[in-house]
Amino acid sequence: MTDPNLIRRQGFPTGRSRPVASPLHPTVVWAADTPDQLDNIYENPGTGFTYAREAHPNAEALAQRLDALEGGQGGLVTGSGMAAVTAALLGCLKAGDHVLGGDQLYGRSLRLMAETLPAMGIETSLADPTDALAFAKGVRPNTRAILIETVSNPTLRVADLAGIAALAKERGILLLVDSTFSTPRAVRALDLGADIVIQSVTKLLAGHSDVTLGYVLARDPARMAAIRTLAVTMGLTPSPFDCWLAERGLFTFALRYDAAERNAQALADHIAGLPGVARVIYPGRADHPDHNRARALLGERPGNMLSFELAGGRAAANALTAAMPDVPFAPTLGDVATTLSHPPSSSHRALTVAAREAIGISEGFFRVSVGVEDVEMLKADFTRGIAAAAAAV
Ligand SMILES: *Cc1c(COP(=O)(O)O)cnc(C)c1O
Repeated sequence: MTDPNLIRRQGFPTGRSRPVASPLHPTVVWAADTPDQLDNIYENPGTGFTYAREAHPNAEALAQRLDALEGGQGGLVTGSGMAAVTAALLGCLKAGDHVLGGDQLYGRSLRLMAETLPAMGIETSLADPTDALAFAKGVRPNTRAILIETVSNPTLRVADLAGIAALAKERGILLLVDSTFSTPRAVRALDLGADIVIQSVTKLLAGHSDVTLGYVLARDPARMAAIRTLAVTMGLTPSPFDCWLAERGLFTFALRYDAAERNAQALADHIAGLPGVARVIYPGRADHPDHNRARALLGERPGNMLSFELAGGRAAANALTAAMPDVPFAPTLGDVATTLSHPPSSSHRALTVAAREAIGISEGFFRVSVGVEDVEMLKADFTRGIAAAAAAV
């Protein structure tokens, strides 16, 4: 019997033609010809690979495509969106610094601000990102960074990015923008004054609910190098297969985004006209509380996310999900298919009822990540679900 390890000696078959799809490289290590060559690779990043935690071709290929979307270069793909948030913050901060965050950040980012960073000696506080004045009041002498999201979850409030970017610039504070909900299709945060942009690639960019990945890009190469070093040291490295899948997803990102956005506009208007609905929140609608700012920041790109509130409470909410089993009731977003989430029982379950009410989240509150299905089918699903909810009140 031939020793299967022989393939390692013979190498992988290659030829004059080149593959059209990106090759998948699950290898952990890369062999160099000589110690001199290895030295050279370590000293000149980008000239070769050594060990997959440091860098690998599938992550590089994906990072370069994301860089092109964000209008920068040298970005880093991480093992999750939270890994990107963590790398960005810890790559910039040290004990004694203060970071000012938006008060409606993604749940885990809030937890990072409330528990993890303070345990490391980093001060944190929160302010309303729709109000640049509130942010100005929250700045302390040791404020080193600001972290905001372009569009908040799940109430879809639109940050005053222009006002906060001006404040950050004036005070010499780093501005970190998590642009997961708007994606670079709507907002290129670096062009609008952000120093660092963060994406949860898990969501719309990869788009198929089958990978967990993040991305971070700093405008300043020295800062990017510090973030990269921190991410490699902490092992926030992504899997090659996840990167390969996300790259494949990215080829249809623009098509998916545009189709989902068209559906979201139509569905928002449809839901707003149904009996039993107290309000619909969609940045593209004139009745959105930040409609003018949404137009200025997002332009004609109000996105695929919408929320709505039933007039009824938990009983109505239970009736709605039970009546529409074809729309997965699952706490995520950005999938090709429409998914439905209920913040009071998932992302915002740790808040008291009063704290939820204060940010406008009642028991009848739902968030919809609209997908690319036939919109008439979606309208029929929601008509049925909302009718069942109204009957349960
Ligand atoms: C999902 C999400 C994250 C975290 O991303 P993961 O890939 O799940 O770790 C961060 N920020 C926002 C706005 C998100 O929606």
